[in-house]
Amino acid sequence: MNYIAHRAVLASAQRAFPVFTLRTFLTVALLFPLAHVSAERSEARQAATRQAAPSAAADPLRIFISVDMEGIGGIGTNKMVSSSGKDYATGRRLMTDEVNTVVGAIFEHGPAEILVNDSHGDMQNLLHTELDPRVAYIQGNTKPLGMVQGLDNTFDAAIFIGYHSRAGTEGGFLAHTGSGAVKGLWINGTEVGEGGMNAFYAGSMGVPVILASGDRVFAEQFAALTGSSTVAVKEAVAYQVARLTHPDEVRRRLAEATREALAGLETARPLEVTTPVTVEMKFATTARAEILQAIPDMQRVDGYTVAYTARTMDEAYRLIRLMYKYISW
Ligand SMILES: [Zn+2]
Repeated sequence: MNYIAHRAVLASAQRAFPVFTLRTFLTVALLFPLAHVSAERSEARQAATRQAAPSAAADPLRIFISVDMEGIGGIGTNKMVSSSGKDYATGRRLMTDEVNTVVGAIFEHGPAEILVNDSHGDMQNLLHTELDPRVAYIQGNTKPLGMVQGLDNTFDAAIFIGYHSRAGTEGGFLAHTGSGAVKGLWINGTEVGEGGMNAFYAGSMGVPVILASGDRVFAEQFAALTGSSTVAVKEAVAYQVARLTHPDEVRRRLAEATREALAGLETARPLEVTTPVTVEMKFATTARAEILQAIPDMQRVDGYTVAYTARTMDEAYRLIRLMYKYISW
């Protein structure tokens, strides 16, 4: 209450009670200023609290992080991303370090709830006990939504780390889509790789991908599709050979890019996906396309290619995963 309001209350009290006793007047005169001061103090206290901890009262940001391995900085051969390969242990450490760097930068921005989804191979790569303890971690790969498992419409943003370009991309380091079984994937007529299909999934949940990292060609491909910020952590010299940037420098760039991406969160837009969702998948062999005819309404486009119209992106994503992963012979 301010001074003018205080005067107005006294004036209206006098109008209501023409016989205003001295005792009443003293009570009102003494108590109102006290109430006034105490209200001012409490406002000042609240303002001070707000200043001391600017985001303490704000809801924590919910961030989903999907981590693949081929696009981690410091990984320059295919052996490093295979659990039986030379220097795989180093690859896991580099992967874990990149996640921790991004997580650290998110917490610098403010309070957060972070879900990290292991998204490479058997999806048991990150060193759990060395991960930042503030994150929740999904491990294991027999999950219907694979690389986007756990991502729903409660998240404010998604970040993809360690990604690679789509199957058949010239100049892409270890470029592929899902598995070696896939030669091409189109969602609503747009050719996508793992980054693209995951960004469409995030988009269907209303979640923008604010940052993605991987080799240079991946970064260009992903930025062209989504408009998201990207960090190029290395460059392919050949399909299984990379020219590397030192991991310390990679992590410095990732931290900086994460801070910038969060600063621009307000303007980030989810990738739009219209429904129904058409999925077209071209395989390396005709056998898979033949077997998939067992699914009602699955179309055969040509020897290697099938097409399906899904009602939602969620349905499309589950089917894509089934088509490339859960058929074996
Ligand atoms: Zn991958």
